[in-house]
Amino acid sequence: MHLDISTSSRIELIDITSQIEQQVRDSRVQSGICVVSTRHTTTSIIINENESGLRSDILNLLEHLIPPSAGYSHDRIDNNAEAHLKAVLLGSSETIPVIDGKLVLGTWQRIFFAELDGPRHRTVNVTLISHP
Ligand code: ZN
Repeated sequence: MHLDISTSSRIELIDITSQIEQQVRDSRVQSGICVVSTRHTTTSIIINENESGLRSDILNLLEHLIPPSAGYSHDRIDNNAEAHLKAVLLGSSETIPVIDGKLVLGTWQRIFFAELDGPRHRTVNVTLISHP
């Protein structure tokens, strides 16, 4: 299974929790694990709270740690080294338990797709593994 996502900014966090929950329901998996992974080297999957100030804080932290055009080697062939480096820090997947047909997430936990070199059309894989 997968999700198609059209992003609208160079860098942004998109809450994909409800789409993942829908795929878990459609799969009829009752117990197991759900792996959400991105297929791209300039995007990430993270879990955190969906609060607008915090979303800005996360993006500002990334921009502070990895400023654009800071003499990166990859910029010699493809002018997006900073996006790759941000993706390295955030990681490419998250694994979430499924119990009683539902994702096991804490009250404030949401699943985000992080666009780091947008806007683009992107694809996220959703893999469900059921155990008896
Ligand atoms: Zn590149």
